[in-house]
Amino acid sequence: MRELRTWRHPDGNSLLAWCPDCKRYHWHGAGGSFTDDSFGHRAAHCHPSVDGGYMLIDQGPATESILQDLKRRKPLGPDETQTSAGDKR
Ligand SMILES: [Zn+2]
Repeated sequence: MRELRTWRHPDGNSLLAWCPDCKRYHWHGAGGSFTDDSFGHRAAHCHPSVDGGYMLIDQGPATESILQDLKRRKPLGPDETQTSAGDKR
């Protein structure tokens, strides 16, 4: 089963799972607050042909670069954003 790196949104109840297949973040509810139960196996938010869902892997609070990337119509993804030194701009 695929594993998606997942960040905690500052709203306190949203998970941002980067999907390398869809090239976007899938939003999942954390269930009221972030607990261990917020992560783990979820039904995929991808197109229906993706069977079995995926695992959400906790990466901690969303960084500024993740939140910026989230606003892009075509997100670059965590690997592109984290390695760029754009956080200070
Ligand atoms: Zn997807």
